[in-house]
Amino acid sequence: MTRRREVEVGRFGLEPAPGGLRLVQSLINTSLSDHQGQPEQDLLAKPGTANEWLSRALAEWSAATGQQVAGRTVRRAELEALCAFREQLRHTLRAQAAHIEAPAPREPGTAAAFDMVVTVHPDGHLGYGTSAPGWQQVAGLATAELLLAGAAGTLPRLKTCAAPECGACFYDGSPNRIRVWHNTQMCGNLPNLRASRARRSTS
Ligand SMILES: [Zn+2]
Repeated sequence: MTRRREVEVGRFGLEPAPGGLRLVQSLINTSLSDHQGQPEQDLLAKPGTANEWLSRALAEWSAATGQQVAGRTVRRAELEALCAFREQLRHTLRAQAAHIEAPAPREPGTAAAFDMVVTVHPDGHLGYGTSAPGWQQVAGLATAELLLAGAAGTLPRLKTCAAPECGACFYDGSPNRIRVWHNTQMCGNLPNLRASRARRSTS
């Protein structure tokens, strides 16, 4: 008897990135670029939806990585910093999408630093996590996952949609890593249409 693989679908109809990278994806997809700060659309706009998201995202990260995590909560005063970190990630990953003009870099800000904890257990199992408090916990774990993905060579596959108003985060599993839209029908059609009109008008 064969069982069909259940395809897990996350926010915006996207499959989760593999392993712990799903935490980075989940954090970015708490909002689209144009929906920042809108309570109905941005899960980090209010402490209630932010903490619901956080406990779910940390549980999923723990299940995907086999790492332990002590769930923490974020306070209203921390949401601005977490949102700024989210947008920094969105901006950084957008530049990874090939075949598009990279957006102009933002003004250089202050580097964010997070305390990390790495552990070697007696059975040889390696653990990693962070002792950082509040919003820095999830930001520190996301940063660790980016580092690990960079070492594993999977980081270039994590992208944010090239449509400026969208910016949804997706994992490009295509052989040539050429995807630039999170959903070609939704986000790729307008620029494709403009490009084909431009080609027709110059031919
Ligand atoms: Zn998109």
